[in-house]
Amino acid sequence: MPFDYRRAPDPESAVAAATGWSGVAFLAGGTNLVDHLKLGLVAPDVLVDISRLPLDAVDELPDGGLRVGATVRNTDLAAHPVVRRDYPVLARAVLSGASGQIRNLATTGGNLLQRTRCVYFQDITTPCNKREPGTGCSAIGGYTRHHAILGASAHCVATHPSDMAVAMAALDAQVAVLGEGGRRVVPLVELHRLPGDEPHRDTVLSPADLITWVDLPPLPPGTRSLYRKVRDRASFAFALVSVAAVLRVERGVVRDVRIALGGVAHKPWRARRAEDVLRGERTGEEVFRRAIDAELAGAAPLAGNGFKVPLTRNLVVSALRELSRGER
Ligand SMILES: Cc1cc2nc3c(=O)[nH]c(=O)nc-3n(C[C@H](O)[C@H](O)[C@H](O)COP(=O)(O)OP(=O)(O)OC[C@H]3O[C@@H](n4cnc5c(N)ncnc54)[C@H](O)[C@@H]3O)c2cc1C
Ligand code: SF4
Repeated sequence: MPFDYRRAPDPESAVAAATGWSGVAFLAGGTNLVDHLKLGLVAPDVLVDISRLPLDAVDELPDGGLRVGATVRNTDLAAHPVVRRDYPVLARAVLSGASGQIRNLATTGGNLLQRTRCVYFQDITTPCNKREPGTGCSAIGGYTRHHAILGASAHCVATHPSDMAVAMAALDAQVAVLGEGGRRVVPLVELHRLPGDEPHRDTVLSPADLITWVDLPPLPPGTRSLYRKVRDRASFAFALVSVAAVLRVERGVVRDVRIALGGVAHKPWRARRAEDVLRGERTGEEVFRRAIDAELAGAAPLAGNGFKVPLTRNLVVSALRELSRGER
């Protein structure tokens, strides 16, 4: 399908160029969007190229946090010395995704807003409520190895594919958005939606909303973090299950804990129930298991992905064990 192409010199012009259209898309690295154009999954009237916007810096903030521009390439983010030193969970998550060539092109904003890899979503010959609302969900009763065990609905059981988003959920990142109504900040954990009865809406953003940057709050001294991902191949594969964990232990007691899960839900899944069990407790195998079991009490695996429940349990316990090692 033909479309209009416009290149925006600054964020305000990008939003202005996108305003008033429903069939509009921002083009950043293009590693997801261009595939979707070729497959016929999307047919925008207007493509607004944001790849050269001056949003490609990682800046240290006065409070000790970091501001990551929306067009910072994934490679540059993972290699940034402050990210490597203070936010290893994020560096590892980014490096666990895609390939070196793709990470050289892929941007922060595009990574967060990449769409599900559900095989039916990507196959225009099959019904899919996300691609075409009201047509049905081919995954329910179909191939579900990669699908959700938490927070799904009768309309969609897809998972969110981004590794970066899972790490940012555990870091309590704040997403800056510029839209028709001006600027606003959306907590990363509220950016993506659960499917409910509107699975075609991945996020809370409107078509002309542009992500401009993501702020990472500082972590208190003594905080440790890591990212672990289980996948079908050692590289170049999306997560079956992943965990981003942030932990601060003082004299054997959990003072701060943030856990986010990937590959299990329509959005990066913040494991609040597990965090509530852990906070204030002495670290140890028993409480780690009790915590993740509290989270997984709400799991509803499908015919093809029951293995994700024990996999998630073991992954989270091993991540907490590693982070608390030597903290007694
Ligand atoms: C073979 C392969 C393997 C991969 N493996 C992984 C993996 O293991 N883990 C993983 O996390 N990812 C993986 N990816 C996905 C990859 O990380 C994404 O394609 C990439 O991050 C998207 O970034 P982009 O800048 O190219 O986005 P684009 O393709 O340009 O855009 C993606 C979407 O975001 C929107 N968008 C982009 N920037 C903004 C913005 N600033 N504001 C508002 N909307 C915006 C676009 O309109 C579009 O809808 C893989 C991709 C491929 C092709
Ligand atoms: S799980 Fe969601 S994306 Fe996949 S076929 Fe069903 S509705 Fe479409």
